[in-house]
Amino acid sequence: MAEQLKAIKGMNDILPPHSARWEWLEDTVRALMRRYGYQNVRVPIVEPTALFVRGLGEVTDIVEKEMYSFEDSLNGDKLTLRPEGTAGVVRAINEHSFLYEGGKRLYYIGPMFRHERPQKGRYRQFHQVGAEVLGFAGPDVDAETILMSAALWRDLGLAVGDDVRLEINSLGQPEERRAHREALITYLQSHEALLDDEARRRLHTNPLRILDTKNPALQAVVEGAPRLIDFLGEASLAHFDAVKQALDAAGIAYRVNPRLVRGMDYYNLTVFEWVTERLGSQGTVCGGGRYDGLIEQLGGKPAPAVGWGLGMERLLLLLEEVGKVPAPVVPDAFAVVLAGTPLPQVLATLEALRAQGVSVLLNPAGKDGPASPKSQFKKADASGARFALVFGPDEFSRGEVAIKPLRDGGEQRLAPLADVAGWGPGLRAAG
Ligand code: ATP
Ligand code: MG
Repeated sequence: MAEQLKAIKGMNDILPPHSARWEWLEDTVRALMRRYGYQNVRVPIVEPTALFVRGLGEVTDIVEKEMYSFEDSLNGDKLTLRPEGTAGVVRAINEHSFLYEGGKRLYYIGPMFRHERPQKGRYRQFHQVGAEVLGFAGPDVDAETILMSAALWRDLGLAVGDDVRLEINSLGQPEERRAHREALITYLQSHEALLDDEARRRLHTNPLRILDTKNPALQAVVEGAPRLIDFLGEASLAHFDAVKQALDAAGIAYRVNPRLVRGMDYYNLTVFEWVTERLGSQGTVCGGGRYDGLIEQLGGKPAPAVGWGLGMERLLLLLEEVGKVPAPVVPDAFAVVLAGTPLPQVLATLEALRAQGVSVLLNPAGKDGPASPKSQFKKADASGARFALVFGPDEFSRGEVAIKPLRDGGEQRLAPLADVAGWGPGLRAAG
């Protein structure tokens, strides 16, 4: 036998029955997006490397060590598998002057790629739902995007404030960050002996990111560091207050976490994360914030924006952890076809049912005809279908099919094929 090839480490196959949970999550997301007026956007998975280097910032974990970058072997172009969705969406709206007529609410669902150490909740190919609102500057939009994420948790059956908790912060504006940065560097320099290699390296390139360190040994230094929030001016504070007031009015609990910074450099003003205690150290399910400078930074006409991204694998792990995944999808009916029944007419009958929205599974006949009734009924039971449609040669030649309830009790009955167009309501699962 030929050697079997395997998937790349950290890149997962999503197979049935598990894939049904993904479809359920995607359906729930799409219904949510419709309610909030978001439109779907699909951009390439491969982009010029420069997009992410310029967009996310050179001294970020993602750009420094997590990107799958390669050269196009045909022309030497430097390309990268997208590690996140925002930069590509911004490139697309710039390229197509998409904000020309005004602001836009967009969302996407798709794979992202980061070269990380695979573990539970952390993969090399993972999937995000992303929401981006472009062209609106007010805090009402920050609040609405956060409220929309909270609505998604509710739609999925998660307890907001318990299964997932909201943390928010304000990163202010670039000039406020600069003043804080000076103070932070001075502070960190005075504690340089306590820093790890990475922190020392970042001291002058990106000291804010040191506050986001996962090294427990640095927590004490980080705790005592000057807080960005103390450097915010009136306008930034007013924006932050307005967001908080909107969350209060909607009854969404949050914790202001002054040390919350995010993994990309493009954020300003509001940043937030939804975190859970139920997934160990991979506890951030969703994160986002405002990124008013990015559109211009990537060559577009200046326009404000805000958005978030959520990790679908982590969200599904959390939903499984708290037992909030839907029951497996089962067919309405399972066709048991006994030897001697004309298959073309059986197939035509099933088509008439499917046209009415009935889901019917046919047990395929082998080369030697249908399997034994016993084996077919066993499969019908295992399928979870509510009804077996028993196609027997004698009944069929009289123009009848037996409908046998498999789960809710009740008698088997013979139904005239002439009425097949009316079977739908009786066979379809309620709702
Ligand atoms: P973390 O701090 O856990 O590395 P991050 O800040 O790098 O997360 P973002 O870039 O904000 O994550 O991406 C948004 C969401 O995507 C995260 O909150 C998380 O749910 C998910 N995510 C990020 N990286 C991964 C990964 N390697 N595997 C699975 N999900 C991921
Ligand atoms: Mg990360």
